[in-house]
Amino acid sequence: MIYQGAARYPVTEIILHCADTRPDWMAGRRLAEKVAEIRRWHVQERGWRDIGYHWVIDRDGTAAPGRLETEIGAHVEGHNRGTIGICLLGGHGASADDPFAKNFTAAQAAAEKQLIAAIKGRTAIYEVSGHNDYTVKACPGFKVRTVLKPG
Ligand SMILES: [Zn+2]
Repeated sequence: MIYQGAARYPVTEIILHCADTRPDWMAGRRLAEKVAEIRRWHVQERGWRDIGYHWVIDRDGTAAPGRLETEIGAHVEGHNRGTIGICLLGGHGASADDPFAKNFTAAQAAAEKQLIAAIKGRTAIYEVSGHNDYTVKACPGFKVRTVLKPG
């Protein structure tokens, strides 16, 4: 199991997000630089202590860590304890129920499934959801429970 914070909340859920960026955002730059830019938004503009997400997935399917999985994230109000936040780059202008492929790449779909499987190997995940399951937002720009069918 993965436990978060001093209170050791067990991680049982993954929540998906998008960065609300255009497809060509920071194109040609390394993923580490993109993660640093998102971290800057969260730390400097929102005053958080670190990037809010635990993982970031680039357009080419590369994944990079954000906040440590053993730390409580900052990605869904009221649902940060015991959850891991994954952010897909892209999604600008997306609607909550768009088809995945309208805003994201096939490489991202594969990377997301791979990352979720890897996290499931480290902790007992009972639910994979989207930001839009908890609030009236488009994020991540698709219905997670429809895209990630069981099996
Ligand atoms: Zn979100």
